[in-house]
Amino acid sequence: MEVYEGKAKRIIPLDDGKVVMEFKDDATAFDGGKKARFRGKGWLNAQISAYLFKVLERNEIKTHFIGVAGDNRLIVEKLRMYPVEVVVRNVVAGSLKKRLPLEEGTELREPIVELYYKDDTLHDPMINRYHARVLGISEEEIREMERIALRVNEILREYFKEKGIILVDFKLEFGKNERGEIVLGDEISPDTCRFWDAETGRSLDKDVFRFDKGDLVKAYEELYERLTGSSLS
Ligand code: ADP
Ligand code: UDP
Repeated sequence: MEVYEGKAKRIIPLDDGKVVMEFKDDATAFDGGKKARFRGKGWLNAQISAYLFKVLERNEIKTHFIGVAGDNRLIVEKLRMYPVEVVVRNVVAGSLKKRLPLEEGTELREPIVELYYKDDTLHDPMINRYHARVLGISEEEIREMERIALRVNEILREYFKEKGIILVDFKLEFGKNERGEIVLGDEISPDTCRFWDAETGRSLDKDVFRFDKGDLVKAYEELYERLTGSSLS
């Protein structure tokens, strides 16, 4: 396996079933239409992901996380990734506004799970279980990913609530390890989740960049500090 250079990360294979996941400072939005670089973002996303993977492991979720390897690098178990993004939503925001007649900020009466096919040329279309089957992903595999995603939502929603932060929505990716188990992979960071301050509704995530709402690094730092309880200054 060769080094894979993605939009936000670099995946560097090691020879023992592990890979290094290096978080870059680059940010992209709107299908790559908007691009920028923020010094410190890679470090923040690596640390926040590591922290959240540990929270999930303590709650018996199988993740690929093995350890932190320097500033913006994590060591993770190498997975055969499913080309699927699993999105979970608690509150109306982003693309859900185009799908349901509900206003931004409306709390959903129950979480919504959505599947998207990861393909830049097709612009990551939404798919369902039938599409997944045709792509060679069984109904059981999809059901298992959805089950884990909803459990991750329960754990993280409560965890963030205690810190005065609303977990609005997020995206997960899964893969299969060498033992054939479905494992949570990729990252969980302000690049892939929406976090709102519970009091003010202020975004502490990539919407700051998408919609020019202020200083992205400051927002991510605030999220890091409130999440971990440790100060960066
Ligand atoms: P993209 O590929 O969308 O540009 P990234 O820049 O985040 O996204 O690249 C990270 C890539 O690494 C993604 O394609 C993701 O599916 C893949 N990946 C995540 N976790 C693992 C893992 N444990 N093993 C192998 N690949 C992984
Ligand atoms: N998301 C992501 N990667 C994607 C698409 C979405 O991490 O390729 C995350 C996004 O940050 C948000 C959630 O998934 O937390 C739902 O995104 P949505 O469908 O609303 O799309 P967006 O507003 O990002 O276009």
